[in-house]
Amino acid sequence: MRKRIIVIGGGIVGITAALELQRRRNSVTIIDPKKPGRETSYGNSGVLSDGSVVISNNPGLRKKLPTLILKRSNALNYNIGFILKSLPWVTKFLSYCTDLHLDHSSRALRNLQSFSLSLHLDLIREANADSLLRKTGWLKVFRSDASFKSYEMELRVLKKTGVGHTIFNSEQLRNLEPSLNQIFKHGVLLHDACSVSSPSGLCDAYLSIFEKLGGKVLQAAATTLSYSDSWKVTMKNNHTLEANRVVIAAGPWSAEIAEKLGYKIPMGWERGYHIHLKPRLGASLQRVVHDVDRGYVMAPQQKGVRITSGVELNDRDAKVDEKQIRNSIHSAREALSLGAELEDSAWMGRRPTLVDSLPIIDKGSRHDELWFNFGHQHNGLSTSAGSAMILADLMHGVTPSIDPSPFRADRFKI
Ligand SMILES: Cc1cc2nc3c(=O)[nH]c(=O)nc-3n(C[C@H](O)[C@H](O)[C@H](O)COP(=O)(O)OP(=O)(O)OC[C@H]3O[C@@H](n4cnc5c(N)ncnc54)[C@H](O)[C@@H]3O)c2cc1C
Repeated sequence: MRKRIIVIGGGIVGITAALELQRRRNSVTIIDPKKPGRETSYGNSGVLSDGSVVISNNPGLRKKLPTLILKRSNALNYNIGFILKSLPWVTKFLSYCTDLHLDHSSRALRNLQSFSLSLHLDLIREANADSLLRKTGWLKVFRSDASFKSYEMELRVLKKTGVGHTIFNSEQLRNLEPSLNQIFKHGVLLHDACSVSSPSGLCDAYLSIFEKLGGKVLQAAATTLSYSDSWKVTMKNNHTLEANRVVIAAGPWSAEIAEKLGYKIPMGWERGYHIHLKPRLGASLQRVVHDVDRGYVMAPQQKGVRITSGVELNDRDAKVDEKQIRNSIHSAREALSLGAELEDSAWMGRRPTLVDSLPIIDKGSRHDELWFNFGHQHNGLSTSAGSAMILADLMHGVTPSIDPSPFRADRFKI
């Protein structure tokens, strides 16, 4: 039977969920205080990965902790006040640094990402967004033998989970990415991964299919949710919308919304920055490149080369701290011939992270017709389409194409 469904949050996760639910003949409204696709889903590196399967809280993290705590790696910046305040969350996050959880999470992410990538390729075709798509893989580069050696564990997991990859030496790298300066000794190409030259352009393209199918978008923030027979969602403008079902897909804001209904979601956020730089004449990248030693990414985008930073642990809405992105730009200039910065200040987004680094895609346990789809961390662009399909299957009583159990809500006491 056709249901009225409200999707709270119009990032890539909310948009793809709304689109799939609309296809299944529901009447769907997205509500978001901003134009959809203008928060975390706007500023990422654009990788549609099939092989980002090693989560940050892996067994190797403990060994790296002294370097990270002493802020000797640009991959992590943190605010000590935030860490102290969030110690229970941080401790729980670190408790997942086990071989057992690495095995479990890498299989779950591999399944979700390869499923999702094939769905994205279909959606991109349907949305006439092929001009955004690059099927050139996703390249990790290493400046020293030592840093490549410490990537051994990741390589083992790539092999174990069947992620297609090729190892390159410095000379082969020169042929693969001729514009890269010759400072890299090794490279690993995830050759089946894809990327897009504008993540917000992709959101717009998917949204236009949703709207063509009759989906509605309301620009407002959900403030209160209540349920008796049906859901009533009140928005900041005091307008109330009624529906049979609600999906919370508000990325880093999801825990705050679910908390209003009594759920304690173990969510943190890993902030990240970007700035675009103009490539100098003749310099161009064929694919997204991750400079592993320096903890940043160079993503060729419509606007220029987007430099994205690693992880900053701080309050979700704390003031911007440009230290990490400044270091990243400095390192990127060593790697590629780059000209002027194209913005006056850095963009900042928040990766929504659950303590075990896997999303929740499931029904809320204590409410009728409440659904969760959030916590996609570093991979939400990649995993959104697959998450949407799992959500819609579970909602419609269909067995999902991949095992949804790693994404169940009851793995936590919430
Ligand atoms: C620097 C960086 C690089 C990244 N690179 C990649 C990459 O290359 N590939 C990849 O797969 N992933 C990448 N990610 C991760 C990816 O961007 C996220 O996982 C993904 O965007 C999360 O999408 P989302 O829809 O859950 O959240 P969001 O995009 O943040 O969307 C949440 C939406 O909820 C809305 N909202 C908030 N409060 C309310 C409310 N009260 N009512 C209604 N709506 C509300 C917000 O306005 C927002 O639009 C990167 C992230 C960062 C920060």
